[in-house]
Amino acid sequence: MDAETYDAVVIGAGIVGAAVTFRLAQRGLHVLVLEAAKAPASGSTAKSAAGVRVQFSEAVNVRLSWRSIREYSQFESLYGLASGYKAIGYLFLVDAENAEYYHKALETQRRLGAPVKKLSAAEAQSLVKFDVTGVTLATWGEIDGIIDPHQVTMGYLQMAKRLGARVLTDTAMMAAERRGGAWVLQTPAGKVESPLVINAAGAWAGEVAARAGFELPVQPVRRMVYMTAPTQLANGLPLVVDVASGFYLRGEQQRILFGRSNHSEQPGFTEGMDWQWLEPTLEVGLARFPWLQQTRLDRRASWWGYYAVTPDNNPILGRMPGQDGWINAVGFSGHGVQQAAAVGQVIAEEAVEGRAQTVDIDELRMDRFNKGIYVQEHNIV
Ligand SMILES: Cc1cc2nc3c(=O)[nH]c(=O)nc-3n(C[C@H](O)[C@H](O)[C@H](O)COP(=O)(O)OP(=O)(O)OC[C@H]3O[C@@H](n4cnc5c(N)ncnc54)[C@H](O)[C@@H]3O)c2cc1C
Repeated sequence: MDAETYDAVVIGAGIVGAAVTFRLAQRGLHVLVLEAAKAPASGSTAKSAAGVRVQFSEAVNVRLSWRSIREYSQFESLYGLASGYKAIGYLFLVDAENAEYYHKALETQRRLGAPVKKLSAAEAQSLVKFDVTGVTLATWGEIDGIIDPHQVTMGYLQMAKRLGARVLTDTAMMAAERRGGAWVLQTPAGKVESPLVINAAGAWAGEVAARAGFELPVQPVRRMVYMTAPTQLANGLPLVVDVASGFYLRGEQQRILFGRSNHSEQPGFTEGMDWQWLEPTLEVGLARFPWLQQTRLDRRASWWGYYAVTPDNNPILGRMPGQDGWINAVGFSGHGVQQAAAVGQVIAEEAVEGRAQTVDIDELRMDRFNKGIYVQEHNIV
């Protein structure tokens, strides 16, 4: 049987694959999306804390996030669709050891025009009550906040479908081979052929690359989100990060969600909640936010998911060296929701014009690892 042919095949229908598909379809490409799960937005996109922030230390990350936040904030007027964007703000509580990094990051954010303010520990108390021990400054991003990642993913796919894109769920890419100027992909629904493949498979991106016969340094690492029972303390609570410990919390409707990355968690597809990590998380969380003691944990409302982690905790974007027609949009290491909109744009440019235009992504290309030049992003949560 002849293979079906497309201008581009996107692997993965998470928020990143959806944004890429929309932008490719907008440029007139006939796009197929292969999604292994039974529905789009079932991978990490369904598991995120949904935070979006311009508060990064590296200019490339500020640019990607800020472009994305602007798009999410204008979704309704641009596309007539909801994105769930709410500017609840992000507050970083910074200790002396990290103060210099956050001062520099603030300069970078302001140089790029991002609205971020420096606050004293006392000023930050007007936004949320916390124990000031060790906090020397705070940074406040008033346009930072949250979106609804599921709604955004479905919105991009809906618009892409109207432009002719096809989305196949329950259809994994099982193998891929470059033959005569095109990729031939094996799926349970048969063969498909395309000159262009975009890997947007999130935590599974390394596995997808292996199925095409090469290595990509992206690994899954399990992360927890704990949730309280409904509490009035959730009212008006912005996303707050205690930089020294990595503990974060925010209001989620009537509840408070909180978490902290476990840096000892081994990469791999480990499943289920890590309840042992709750105690070390609460130990630092209660020290900073003693009032959290008044809340009750709701175990059934808590969840886990995978970060797609690279060796420097930053995405790998752009053409894959040595693999013609293969483009990476992978390895977001915990900040893919907030960069997806801009990534859709730059990956479509890379695919159609040969090179990303709106944001220079050279620092995020795969060859940085071969050269041993890692991205020095400091604001990783
Ligand atoms: C607990 C937690 C909290 C987070 N909090 C935030 C946050 O606050 N802000 C933020 O920006 N980010 C956050 N993230 C990260 C964010 O969720 C991800 O960076 C983002 O969702 C990545 O989107 P994606 O489309 O690349 O991946 P995914 O949503 O995982 O999509 C990849 C898709 O590829 C599919 N797939 C896999 N293998 C194949 C195959 N062989 N063939 C076809 N399809 C395949 C999968 O089924 C999946 O649907 C968090 C993540 C976790 C786990």
